[in-house]
Amino acid sequence: MVIVMMGAPGAGKGTQTMLLSRKRNIPALVMGDVLRKKIKEDKEIGKEIKKYVDRGELVPDSLVLRITREFLNQKKEAILDGIPRNMNQARALREERKDLKVVYIEVPEDLIVKRVSSRRVCENCGVVYNLITNPPKEDSICDLCKGRLIQREDDKEDVVRKRLEVYRRETAPMLRYFEELGCLLKIDGRGAPKKVLERLEKALYGGNN
Ligand code: AMP
Repeated sequence: MVIVMMGAPGAGKGTQTMLLSRKRNIPALVMGDVLRKKIKEDKEIGKEIKKYVDRGELVPDSLVLRITREFLNQKKEAILDGIPRNMNQARALREERKDLKVVYIEVPEDLIVKRVSSRRVCENCGVVYNLITNPPKEDSICDLCKGRLIQREDDKEDVVRKRLEVYRRETAPMLRYFEELGCLLKIDGRGAPKKVLERLEKALYGGNN
């Protein structure tokens, strides 16, 4: 089974990918991370990718699909986070694998805005805090390196609402597509990460898992 994680920014997609991958020992492909790593490696392909990422545009489908194919290569189980991002990728992925389960983590917009706008990042080491659920010991100071905690520009409330609007516009057709294929699972993304993981496992594996 190939598990595809979908959800708006702040829905907890990255957290659930990590938790499920660790707990069940399933390899995960996080597309944004792979692309950022390729940029750091600074080969020709990295330079090409950087052009798109810096402009906030999608990297060409052919490239992300190649990365995905290489990763999936005969794996029985895998988690995908960050792909598909458009209908062309969704169709290509489905062509590649018929054993897709698409998990959509649903969180009401107001809660997303609250979660994302209370996120703070250390400008020095990059560790992420949340003022409500995971605050630093000292106000605005990183527990680990004593760096200053800042709010990312794109985490500010008006920008978050804009990002959500774009996300919904781009994702809605894919959700419809997967729903029609009968492989869409909707999960309530409210509450603690552990609770959400329980719902996720129940939806994927059923019973008492
Ligand atoms: P993310 O960390 O998921 O926000 O991704 C960062 C950037 O990587 C995006 O803004 C895109 O430029 C690129 N990217 C990530 N996933 C994809 C994808 N499936 N297709 C095309 N570009 C992608």
